Amino acid sequence: MNKDKVLSGMQASGKLHLGNLVGALSNWVKLQDKYECYYFIADWHSLTTGYADPSHMKESTKDLLINYLAAGLDPEKCTIFIQSRVIEHAELHLLLSMITPLGWLERVPTYKEKQQELKDRDLSTYGFLGYPLLQTADIIIYRAKYVPVGVDQVPHLEISREVARRFNYLYKEIFPEPEALLTEFPKVVGTDGRKMSKSYDNAIYLSDSPEEVERKIRTMVTDPARVKKTDVGDPELSPVYHLHKIFSSKEEQEYIANGCRTAGIGCIECKKILIKNVLKVMEPIWQRRNELLRDPDILQDIASKGTEKAKKVAEETMQLVREAMGLY
Ligand code: SF4
Repeated sequence: MNKDKVLSGMQASGKLHLGNLVGALSNWVKLQDKYECYYFIADWHSLTTGYADPSHMKESTKDLLINYLAAGLDPEKCTIFIQSRVIEHAELHLLLSMITPLGWLERVPTYKEKQQELKDRDLSTYGFLGYPLLQTADIIIYRAKYVPVGVDQVPHLEISREVARRFNYLYKEIFPEPEALLTEFPKVVGTDGRKMSKSYDNAIYLSDSPEEVERKIRTMVTDPARVKKTDVGDPELSPVYHLHKIFSSKEEQEYIANGCRTAGIGCIECKKILIKNVLKVMEPIWQRRNELLRDPDILQDIASKGTEKAKKVAEETMQLVREAMGLY
């Protein structure tokens, strides 16, 4: 029986952190057993905002591929590929641009938000405006049924559904309207208590060394009420406890919550438990990362085979699209 297709990707724009691992990659690993999954490295998307400085692109693409594999994506179970190597995405993007009203792109909420957020860059470009359309091409070229997203990202899929619907109405019923595969992502806080993010400089990276991870957790902010070990605290106000909720066992969480509220444990002991548990999750990832870093040929091989597989499916769709749009 054919499995439903799932598609997702990440931008090749820097190192991955624990938030990316817990929020997306771990979920992708589970999905690869149940669906026909296509996971890509969105290098063109990185250029929509980072076009002025592409110096890191090759290195970031390689690092992202390593992280995909180190986190547990298995090229035998899913298709892993590099977006720019499947040029059919660009062809479909171009053809979809013929039928997409400008207003649809201008009203995508992230269009204005990101321009505000990245004020130091000139994002009044055609490529940045067309980002959601390229994203649509990425998804529908595989005629994917699902895109794994958190509930706050569901509106972003709406434009892809609208464009697929418009194409089907104008020409031929080729594209399924992609649906959100809702996932509950735990919110991962960074070392300063805000959402873990590269831009806040509060992230624990998959490429950090064990010593760096330990140092970052040791210096994390805690409940400000606990100045001395004898002060009682509220674990819910401590970012350390929020990470315990993700990485520690139920028993440990209870022990810590009680100990924090009654001043039964100190922050140093509490953080030591967290360090132990985070290292346990990261150790197999580091091991795999090191193996892959030592063997660049295997990375080339995986990227080439995955790209070839993706290209075959994309090309099949494009033949239907060209035919439907009257192209020779
Ligand atoms: S004991 Fe743990 S949870 Fe409580 S304030 Fe200290 S670090 Fe945070």
